[in-house]
Amino acid sequence: MNDCIFCRIAEGEIPATIVLSDAEIVAFRDIDPKAPTHVLVIPRRHIDSVNELGAEDAALVGRLVLAGRAVAATDGIAEPGYRLVLNTGPDGGQSVGHLHLHVLGGRGMAWPPG
Ligand code: 5GP
Ligand code: ZN
Repeated sequence: MNDCIFCRIAEGEIPATIVLSDAEIVAFRDIDPKAPTHVLVIPRRHIDSVNELGAEDAALVGRLVLAGRAVAATDGIAEPGYRLVLNTGPDGGQSVGHLHLHVLGGRGMAWPPG
């Protein structure tokens, strides 16, 4: 059995609030939201992190970003804006080892991040 929690969400084995889904990607609301909109966009295919992406994955990464934009539009936060984040590795704050794009918005975001 695949013990990757995000693979299992993509397979429908673990419930999540899915907001967008197609053959390649799934977007679902974060279980512990850090902002009024907090959605995770993942590839269905397991990829550990940005560090494991290959040149052949460039189109997939583009789809993740466009899906993030679509989620922001659906949630009504395209304006005044939102933040897309790819935490990578321990120092990047990555806690789940399946590539995921955070879509955060609905409030002003601080900079620099913590
Ligand atoms: P990271 O810290 O790896 O950048 O982000 C992982 C995110 O996944 C966290 O924001 C965390 O709240 C979220 N998360 C962890 N487990 C689950 C889960 O089972 N379901 C959902 N919907 N989100 C999860
Ligand atoms: Zn996975």
